[in-house]
Amino acid sequence: MTTPGDPLEYMSASRLKSFLTCRLRFFYEKVLQLPTPTTPNLQIGKAVHAGLEALHKAKWAGELPTTPDILQAYQESYSALEEQDAVDYGQKSREDCLETGERTLRAYLESDLVTDPRPIRGVEAYLRREPDELPIPLVGVVDLVRDNTPIDFKTVGSTPDLREEAWSHELQMTCYFLLLADATGELPGQAELVYLVKTKTPKVIRHQLPSVDLIQLERFKRLTDVYVEGNQRQEYFPSPGMHCRWCSFRSRCRAWGKVAA
Ligand code: SF4
Repeated sequence: MTTPGDPLEYMSASRLKSFLTCRLRFFYEKVLQLPTPTTPNLQIGKAVHAGLEALHKAKWAGELPTTPDILQAYQESYSALEEQDAVDYGQKSREDCLETGERTLRAYLESDLVTDPRPIRGVEAYLRREPDELPIPLVGVVDLVRDNTPIDFKTVGSTPDLREEAWSHELQMTCYFLLLADATGELPGQAELVYLVKTKTPKVIRHQLPSVDLIQLERFKRLTDVYVEGNQRQEYFPSPGMHCRWCSFRSRCRAWGKVAA
């Protein structure tokens, strides 16, 4: 029997990354599913993604959406997301955040990428691979599939160092490779990351990653074994480090070791 937070029901790039970064935070976030505050950056990122989804779905359906259509979809999603999860704006103003996202989305709409001639084969494509050489099902949602290429959008605050980014997204890209290969029966193309940089003058940067190689596939497989075995043994312990800066479970974490966490 499984529960909504059962970590062995399936694995995803997000679950793997969370587990491998800090098992205690993974336990709070993915197993207990404790609520985490929605930051302004997260809110902007989600709403921009919703605008991109509206654009690509319309194009996939053979429509010709205008910029006002997509900006309206963005604004409606922004409000709907706020209703679902309250945003902790802190010192930031809602209007500034809304405007930042709109400016960023507009930059994409005015970029060459919007007229990419490759056919769209999926938008927010939910993919699931049943256990084979992997120990439990693998799932993932790919933002956009053009031809047989997975494309992922990242909304970021500053210009990324592309070599670092390719390294830090290895798990996600290997996951998409395995999912897409399974779904299509074809060898996926080189994955692409598209950065939407939320600077005052926003930038759009397309980064094509190297092909997934056999070593990455083997690393992925071994890490999935670590994930399954660690969860079977319920090994949830803190791993203090730089990532604690963005963790909202610090007070709970502090109690670990004194009382049952
Ligand atoms: S504060 Fe750090 S060590 Fe503790 S749960 Fe969060 S990420 Fe893990």
